[in-house]
Amino acid sequence: MSLLPIITLPDEKTLREVSKPVATIDSHVKALWDDMLETMYRAPGIGLAAIQVGVPQRLLVIDLAKDGEPKAPLFVANPEITWASEQQSDYEEGCLSIPDYYEMVTRPAEIKVRYLNRQGEPNEMHATGLMATCLQHEIDHLNGVLFIDHISRLKRERVIKKFQKAHKLGKL
Ligand code: ZN
Repeated sequence: MSLLPIITLPDEKTLREVSKPVATIDSHVKALWDDMLETMYRAPGIGLAAIQVGVPQRLLVIDLAKDGEPKAPLFVANPEITWASEQQSDYEEGCLSIPDYYEMVTRPAEIKVRYLNRQGEPNEMHATGLMATCLQHEIDHLNGVLFIDHISRLKRERVIKKFQKAHKLGKL
């Protein structure tokens, strides 16, 4: 396994790409998932989409286990949200591609997601709480959407400018 560089703002070009479905869960997909998982643990983070390491494929890794709990990695390919609750919930979100920035985001509180698991089998999950938020955040990445797209334009422009400025000054 190896650590992969995580793409961050201001590199919006890559992060705005729409990822393509994978055809099969082969050894390449499994190796990429393993690298993504290691990269996510090291960051540390609770979710990572393949596009965040520059690979435009519809692949995610998620692990919501807290410190001290056994690791519980979830490997997701080609996810599709098949149902979302009308009830909404607010979470303060962050993103490994937008380091050290957190903002409240409102999303459906519960969703159902259809996806392929690590064995390549179709699966459906009813997600609630943090898992529902995390899945929606990561699936957004596969469509080139960032969590800052769900906040006010003023706040979004401010954070993008901050990263552009830091990049110019050579701090990123
Ligand atoms: Zn993210």
